[in-house]
Amino acid sequence: MIRKTIQQRLVLEAAQRLCHPSAEEIYQVIVRKHPNISRGTVYRNLHNLTASGVLGRVLIPSGAERFDTTMPPHYHAVCKRCGAVQDAAFPYQEQMQNVASTCDGFVLEKHDIIFWGICKECAAQSAAQKNHMEEESAG
Ligand SMILES: [Zn+2]
Ligand SMILES: [Zn+2]
Repeated sequence: MIRKTIQQRLVLEAAQRLCHPSAEEIYQVIVRKHPNISRGTVYRNLHNLTASGVLGRVLIPSGAERFDTTMPPHYHAVCKRCGAVQDAAFPYQEQMQNVASTCDGFVLEKHDIIFWGICKECAAQSAAQKNHMEEESAG
């Protein structure tokens, strides 16, 4: 029981330290300090933490499932290039469900919006690449 609690705490701490990490990213962070922890243990604890509502999940089409420590409903921005996920500042539009719930027989409970774009790191990288190419063609 004590062991179980420690493992769960390690998983939660790693999830809080990273920004919307995947299960694999959380495992990699923990295993660096605790080489004996198994992937299965990390995944099982992540499952328990989401099932009990301590962690949220972000489902991204064509990407790995991400974990979220911010529980109130909010939107996400995803980088098209590297898949990085961040919270979008756009306020949650509760009324969208009320407007949409006129469709036949549906009781709408929630909705997701994903904003797609290029993250700061990837933008900086492509700017550097562009500069490099321009220098080469000039020289
Ligand atoms: Zn990126
Ligand atoms: Zn989030």
